[in-house]
Amino acid sequence: MYTCSFCGEELEEGKGIMFVKNNGEIFYFCSNKCFSNHGMRNPAKVKWTQRFKQEKEIKMKTLQHRK
Ligand SMILES: [Zn+2]
Repeated sequence: MYTCSFCGEELEEGKGIMFVKNNGEIFYFCSNKCFSNHGMRNPAKVKWTQRFKQEKEIKMKTLQHRK
């Protein structure tokens, strides 16, 4: 099982885009949308990604600890 390198969603077998960089690094993308956003935007700053949600949760937790 692979997860999308951009949004963090799980990929179904045989679906999505596999992208190999010149240095041999492999990325998987669930859609063209994620593929085109990759490298241009920080997934932690894009609202529809899993990473955005994770970052938000981490921030909420840190805020709660400060109280
Ligand atoms: Zn994706």
